Amino acid sequence: MPVQPRHKRILLKLSGEAGVGGDKFGIDPATLAAVADEIAQVARAGVQICVVVGGGNFFRGAALAEAGMERASADYMGMLATIMNALALQSSLEKVGVFTRVQSAIPMEAVCEPYIRRRAVRHLEKGRVVIFAAGVGAPFFTTDSGAALRAAEMGCEALYKGTSVDGVYTADPKKDPNAQRYETLSYQDVLAKNLKVMDPSAVSLMRDNHIPIVVFDIRERGNLLKVLNGEGVFTTIA
Ligand code: UDP
Repeated sequence: MPVQPRHKRILLKLSGEAGVGGDKFGIDPATLAAVADEIAQVARAGVQICVVVGGGNFFRGAALAEAGMERASADYMGMLATIMNALALQSSLEKVGVFTRVQSAIPMEAVCEPYIRRRAVRHLEKGRVVIFAAGVGAPFFTTDSGAALRAAEMGCEALYKGTSVDGVYTADPKKDPNAQRYETLSYQDVLAKNLKVMDPSAVSLMRDNHIPIVVFDIRERGNLLKVLNGEGVFTTIA
């Protein structure tokens, strides 16, 4: 496909399920391989790409807290899960010949680099895919906030949110046959209508920094590159 990417540097946000786990607990090799392929296509097209992966395929702090665990500890477990996912993604990207670095907001010297903004930018300039792990490195946040923060810090032109749905709908399209997909939305629409796209804190950080959010289906093969070219189905929040 001829490549006319709309954005030269992007951040790709994937939930633990969309990026690594599939629909089950833990790691799904087929999901990992498909996602690595999506990222590799974009990297080979010369787009600088950094990735934030969630940890929900292992643990979400809020769910563990509901089950009786202290919230902050539960959140740290969630952050550790994102480091496992980042390593899994790194390994699958290396298998298809893409150079990567993992940087964690919680330093883990023997495992990956600590998050250092300038070093991350340098990796991107050299064409390496940078995977950011451990969100913002603090409890009571999610990896959506981590993604928004890193997108702003890296000077990304857009935040691509890969999900299992091809955009933002008026209702859950898997449950409501009358649900309509939005072509575009304003940040304010998302916040005022309380649309479940990303955490409100992440959406407002993107609004304040004028970084559009592109919501698309990561499970459709070849879709990331297609959407980056402005083709196919997606919702833009700007
Ligand atoms: N988390 C956190 N601080 C962060 C990022 C993540 O405490 O900056 C914890 C939180 O418990 C969260 C879990 O890590 O539920 C996994 O991340 P998230 O829920 O964002 O994963 P996703 O839904 O994207 O798979």
